[in-house]
Amino acid sequence: MRTKKDYIKGLSKMKRNIYYDGQLIDRTDELQMDCLNTIGTTYDEAAKPENQELCTATSHLTGEKINRFTHIHQNKEDLHKKQDMTRMLCQKVGGCIQRCMGIDGSNAIYNVSFEADKVKKGETNYHENFKKWLTRFQKEDLVGCCAQTDVKGDRMLRPADQPNPGAYVRIKERTKDGIIVEGCKVHISEASVADEVLVLPTRALRPEDKDYAVAFAVPGDWEGLKQVVTIHNLRPRDHYKRGFVPGATDSYMIFDNCFVPWERVFLAGEYQHGGACALLFALFHRHSYSGCKPAIGDVIMGMAALGAEVNNIHKQSHVREKLAELIMTTELGYAAGYTASDLGKAEVYIPGVGFVPYGPGSFIPNSIYCNVGRCLSGEAVWREAEILCDIAGGVVATFPHEKDFINPATGEALLKYTKRNPNMSSEDQAQFWRFLGDAMCSATAGIHNIGSYHGGGSPIMEQIAITTQYDIESRKKLVKYIAGMSGGDREALSKKKAKK
Ligand SMILES: Cc1cc2nc3c(=O)[nH]c(=O)nc-3n(C[C@H](O)[C@H](O)[C@H](O)COP(=O)(O)OP(=O)(O)OC[C@H]3O[C@@H](n4cnc5c(N)ncnc54)[C@H](O)[C@@H]3O)c2cc1C
Repeated sequence: MRTKKDYIKGLSKMKRNIYYDGQLIDRTDELQMDCLNTIGTTYDEAAKPENQELCTATSHLTGEKINRFTHIHQNKEDLHKKQDMTRMLCQKVGGCIQRCMGIDGSNAIYNVSFEADKVKKGETNYHENFKKWLTRFQKEDLVGCCAQTDVKGDRMLRPADQPNPGAYVRIKERTKDGIIVEGCKVHISEASVADEVLVLPTRALRPEDKDYAVAFAVPGDWEGLKQVVTIHNLRPRDHYKRGFVPGATDSYMIFDNCFVPWERVFLAGEYQHGGACALLFALFHRHSYSGCKPAIGDVIMGMAALGAEVNNIHKQSHVREKLAELIMTTELGYAAGYTASDLGKAEVYIPGVGFVPYGPGSFIPNSIYCNVGRCLSGEAVWREAEILCDIAGGVVATFPHEKDFINPATGEALLKYTKRNPNMSSEDQAQFWRFLGDAMCSATAGIHNIGSYHGGGSPIMEQIAITTQYDIESRKKLVKYIAGMSGGDREALSKKKAKK
């Protein structure tokens, strides 16, 4: 397994194809260091003896010890551990740990490539290709990002109907050695600091969309790929240092006549499997949210409770109500993920059919619980911000900059007027407002809220998944029976359960 130092050294050798604000930058540019330190935590923590259970796994391909972020879930325990590892690591960096896209994309393609080969009866070799790619990914302990979201052009048009054929990433040409792709994936987190980019479709596809059913992996600096990155760093501080400085990046990834050799292609034209791949990545990713969102909830809870203490209002009943609400959202999100792990199996749910075996035997979390958890906690971000805003009062928005606390003309007075709770030092109270300002009033804070809301799919996507997979008919029959209406069935639900 690699160290954080090896990871950064690997990035330093990659070709320059990352554009930031009009400049071509190195992957190890100072601007990306906060992000590298955040992902670096996944290497540092996996090396600690006390984290071996949670942060490492045994590869089912080689039998070797690997970082859990490169693992394919073999059982329920693996699903539980991924959720708990994600929560633990996100707590350490105070937000997104940024390495889950690779594990979620790998688990999706691992299953879908197997199913596509099965249907093609030996015509394709996607699964073996993917296993070769995965073996190297695991051995070299690489960071992967997952490029799913296309620019999508006119939202009312399907891929093949778009006036710009590249509005969704597509196969432009097939050659005997591989495929040539074009298009643009957007909002791709950590692509600018990833070794490998996993590309897969964004939505369900029709036969005429078959050129859009494409999944492959290329290094982040591959010929024919350009990245335009936005980097989300907090305002630097000279005097009042933070305990940990998180960072994140998101890229537009432009594929321009990009050649991908067949051994790196895992789907090419199988439109039904393209849609399945989109859904499965979203499912694994929503399961990851059941680890990261509770960790973000832990930080929000800490901020709300400390904010109340700094304001000396922590014993007031309205504060108790708000803290209780934060705990409920956080732990219901976690509980949904826990249940999704516990009900995990090597099957997927097909509406109208029920659970069917899927993939070569690796474990897939339960879809209803992944989706309800992500939707509940994703939509709650604005309410959580409202609670923090309420408890904090206005000071979080107008707290003076750090140098005003250093300046002899203003520092002493500012510290004196910062004091609220008599039992906490003014210095700690000031440091708390600086942190809450980072978390609520910075550009990064706004970006994180939008990421928490839309990342993994907007709430409407979860609502569609929940309502198409939930057995609403059985519930209607149950109520018809209880109400004494025609067509009622007292056993409707238990029959379904027994069938499973
Ligand atoms: C910070 C951040 C990080 C992200 N990281 C990643 C990543 O690493 N990898 C990745 O692949 N993606 C990533 N995403 C993308 C994320 O998954 C998408 O933002 C999300 O799926 C919504 O897609 P969109 O942004 O294109 O929104 P849109 O599709 O533009 O949605 C806007 C609105 O239009 C509605 N709408 C769209 N289409 C239709 C339709 N056909 N009919 C009716 N209504 C419609 C939506 O419901 C929504 O209300 C990230 C997003 C953010 C904000």
